[in-house]
Amino acid sequence: MAVVKVRRKYEMKNIMIAGAGVLGSQIAYQTALSGFNVSVYNHHIDTAERRIKALKSDYERDLHLTDKEFQQGLDNIKVITDDIATAVKDADLMIEALPESLELKERFYEEVSELAPDKTIFASNSSTFIPSQLAPYTDRPERFLNMHFANQIWKFNVVEIMGTSQTSPEVIEEATKFAREIKMVPIILNKEQHGYILNSLLIPLLASGLSLWAKGVADPAMIDKDWMISTGAPMGPFGILDMVGLRTAAQIERNAYAQTKDESHKEIVDKMEQMIQEGHEGKESGQGFYNYPNPAFMDPDFLKH
Ligand code: NAD
Repeated sequence: MAVVKVRRKYEMKNIMIAGAGVLGSQIAYQTALSGFNVSVYNHHIDTAERRIKALKSDYERDLHLTDKEFQQGLDNIKVITDDIATAVKDADLMIEALPESLELKERFYEEVSELAPDKTIFASNSSTFIPSQLAPYTDRPERFLNMHFANQIWKFNVVEIMGTSQTSPEVIEEATKFAREIKMVPIILNKEQHGYILNSLLIPLLASGLSLWAKGVADPAMIDKDWMISTGAPMGPFGILDMVGLRTAAQIERNAYAQTKDESHKEIVDKMEQMIQEGHEGKESGQGFYNYPNPAFMDPDFLKH
């Protein structure tokens, strides 16, 4: 007897990624590699292209992709544009990975709401804003949720899925299915939580490391060494900060300063801004707290002395 496949109301096919920075470029490429048609919206087209192509060495090293396979992924990125209307035109799902600024995200969600088809699910990759802060900027709170990816998604393949009380269960289900299709492990939160699960654990660690550094208690390598030897972790807070990227980390401290007016956050922001101006933006730029591709903390001798 023939097996009759029950077709879903629709299958996701076209995915828009808004913002092709550290995370957006990774989400765009991983989605394209998994066979979806991807459109990318970024205000600088050339930097978006460069960032996506720069993932080649990571995918070759970690997933052993051949040149041809990497190119097949690139071929599924159908458009990279600075025009929201073009990118969202036929999107089933739009994942927003724009800078961590509420004003910027508000402007974007108001604009994309006017331009997107009714079917489009909106998902934010925001690390610090919960979906009920962003959903009111859209015209579709029942089709809005957060999907929070971890940096280096091809290796650290989790996505935290968090809706509001208004998000439709069907949308959570669609997002979960999509996550699995792009080879992520979905982590579904039952209620809203600032920082999800990962950042509820991680941000206090990074903030404490930065505070120790800004107060002059110890330098980054010494702080990392203590953490790594004592816990057996493969990297310490400053190795992680380089991976996250100093622009995002500085923005989180800037937001903390705006909320608390605590001067210690301002001190950290000033120190990080100076590093960013000097080109120390983290792993992506080849230097941050460490120099890449061979940061000192990965040297086997680092933990011996
Ligand atoms: P990023 O600064 O590396 O990238 C932002 C991108 O948006 C850049 O390509 C920039 O050119 C583009 N952009 C800026 N303003 C724009 C505008 N008005 N219109 C269109 N494009 C614009 O940031 P990121 O680290 O990739 O973070 C993006 C989001 O992902 C944030 O919400 C952050 O909280 C979240 N996130 C980051 C990480 C991380 O490890 N970096 C992890 C999980 C989630």
